[in-house]
Amino acid sequence: MQLILNTMNKFEALGLGDSILKAVEDMGFTEPSEVQEKAIPILLDEDTDIVALAQTGTGKTAAFGFPLIEKIDANSRITQGLILSPTRELCLQITNELKNYSKYTKGLHTVAIYGGASIHDQAREIKRGAQIIVATPGRMQDMINRKMVDISNIGYCILDEADEMLNMGFYEDINAILSHTPEEKSTWLFSATMPREVATIAKRFMSDPVEITVGHKNTSSKNISHEYYMVGSRDRYPALKRLADANPDIFSVIFCRTKRDTQKVAENLINDGYNAAAIHGDLSQNQRDLVMTSFRKRQIQMLVATDVAARGIDVDDITHVVNYQLPDEIETYTHRSGRTGRAGKNGVSMVIVTKSEARKIKALERILKTTFEKKDVPSGEEICQVQLFHLANDIKEAEINHEIDTYLPAINEVLEDFTKEELIKKFFSVEFTRFHNYYKKAKDLNNVSEGRGDYAESSGSSVRYFINIGEKDGYDWMRLKDFLKETLDLGRDAVSRVDVKENFAFFNTDADQKDKVLEVFENFTQDGRSINIEVSKTSGRGGGGRRKGRSGRRDGGGGFKGKRRSEGFKPRGSRDGGNNEGGNSGNGRRDRKKRSDRW
Ligand code: AMP
Repeated sequence: MQLILNTMNKFEALGLGDSILKAVEDMGFTEPSEVQEKAIPILLDEDTDIVALAQTGTGKTAAFGFPLIEKIDANSRITQGLILSPTRELCLQITNELKNYSKYTKGLHTVAIYGGASIHDQAREIKRGAQIIVATPGRMQDMINRKMVDISNIGYCILDEADEMLNMGFYEDINAILSHTPEEKSTWLFSATMPREVATIAKRFMSDPVEITVGHKNTSSKNISHEYYMVGSRDRYPALKRLADANPDIFSVIFCRTKRDTQKVAENLINDGYNAAAIHGDLSQNQRDLVMTSFRKRQIQMLVATDVAARGIDVDDITHVVNYQLPDEIETYTHRSGRTGRAGKNGVSMVIVTKSEARKIKALERILKTTFEKKDVPSGEEICQVQLFHLANDIKEAEINHEIDTYLPAINEVLEDFTKEELIKKFFSVEFTRFHNYYKKAKDLNNVSEGRGDYAESSGSSVRYFINIGEKDGYDWMRLKDFLKETLDLGRDAVSRVDVKENFAFFNTDADQKDKVLEVFENFTQDGRSINIEVSKTSGRGGGGRRKGRSGRRDGGGGFKGKRRSEGFKPRGSRDGGNNEGGNSGNGRRDRKKRSDRW
């Protein structure tokens, strides 16, 4: 009773009314989060614009949701509040949260509008009266154009995850939407980071906003520790598997840069016996929903995701975020790592890097004002050890299932000649042998000298490649250059010295793009044909050179059968997987970032 009283006092002290206090009690919130403590009194007290820097998981939905609900006139059916959010997932989450917060606020209706669902159903819901609309910018714009919504009387406009919306290229939509709203409304902007674009929006659309910051600007959460693993460019996947094996209870999001890599890594993990699935823009909404449901239920331990698809993933208890590849933009790293270490829990953000990317770690340390611990990829022996102790602990914690009682006499008979010590040794040997056999020939992945013998390096800062397509495949130098530019998603002049022969061709890129080039073309097929790339032995223009046979993955295959397999989801389109979703969203909107915001 005393506890409830204290709790109520803390939320009551913020100035909230009875209906919300009752809902807070139902939700079991014990005390306001930092952003709530800072924002709610201000927003309740005055009609002001506000810029709040807060990451997801900090309770920001309630920070704007509580005051919004307090300020809305539930007796009027007019739309008074508009919340814009970057993704359908987030839009639905916010709507759900608001419905929970307002369950004792009679007559208040919150309606979600987003793409991928019937626009007419949504229009009907709004017509019934929606004082609050939560919308994605694209669908909102569409509905304004079709006169299905009227936001000319809103008093409050909330831009949630403003940095994400701008990243996704929604600037023009936001601009257009805001032009349909009254001048004198209050605008509340929430963003995890404050890139230049967000500052511009704040300047352009807000007047004298109050600024609040939870934690420090561009500083990572204290609950998240950052670590990196340096490996050879071909060893990312084996390293990923080892990191998973060394953390048997891992519940993680693995971030890749492209849809194709995301799909490929997930498929490899599934084939290797892990509970994994992919989520990216080539999946239908239905497929994405299925994946997310399985992930929430923990049927999936490793969710491999693109940055775009991972937006709005609101799953607590994620133990690890793995950066299979680093993103193009530094801010994206903050978003990725913010998926773990939520709600006061600790989390780990792991980065797999190659030697040439080491400078990016330095840049991250500088900007996030945090330290990245350099760690070694666990050896086979360490993994065997971890797995054995994990098994011992599992056995210790296991509840006895009495269904086996009927079989015990027969089992005891089989094992009656062994002592307890012998039985333990035998039992654990079963497990150990499996791991040991798999890892006994595994190499040390921490040996990352760049001249690994697989490829001869070209001289200077440029690398020359061999590719097994040529004139007979319909390419001249211009077509091949276009194909490479599109597939590799590098800068305008990144591909040079394209030289097409009858059966094969050569081209150059900057040396620091080498890892990316090789990765993109690893297991690359087009129209069922395998396209291979090798670093050419010669560096002179038009140089010849034959392909070297590639050795297979030394660390591939296998995996631990202890982990259940899960469903894999195939992309709808087959060949478009190479787009970097960070650069060009599924809506075909161009990334507005300038090069200077990149590494
Ligand atoms: P958000 O940052 O708004 O996405 O919130 C993250 C999660 O924290 C949501 O599941 C909220 O329901 C929950 N939450 C919000 N405020 C509190 C609070 N004061 N105490 C505990 N949980 C909260």
